[in-house]
Amino acid sequence: MTLIRPAAGSLELIERDVPSPSPGQVLVKVHACGVCRTDLHVVDGELPHPAIPIVPGHEIVGTIERVGADSASDLAPGDRVGIPWLGYSCGVCEYCRSGRENLCPRARFTG
Ligand SMILES: [Zn+2]
Ligand SMILES: [Zn+2]
Repeated sequence: MTLIRPAAGSLELIERDVPSPSPGQVLVKVHACGVCRTDLHVVDGELPHPAIPIVPGHEIVGTIERVGADSASDLAPGDRVGIPWLGYSCGVCEYCRSGRENLCPRARFTG
């Protein structure tokens, strides 16, 4: 379900091709996804400059479907995984090194 027009009050069902995991990535089949208050602010058009289109929801539980080439992790198809809202942080900046990864200037977010 994708938000195309904030404040329109509805999400649109959009069929997408299933992506192939790139090297270092995994493909996850989503079983459940939390929708938090920030998502609702975006859907209701209450936040400026949302990245549209967007699929709301960024707290995910699912299972690994496929593992990309060169994956250094021990994840395997069938493994149950959780994915947090904070999808990436650099690990080397002062925020990351002090346990405040949410403030990392190079952070990327799920969803
Ligand atoms: Zn959230
Ligand atoms: Zn960082």
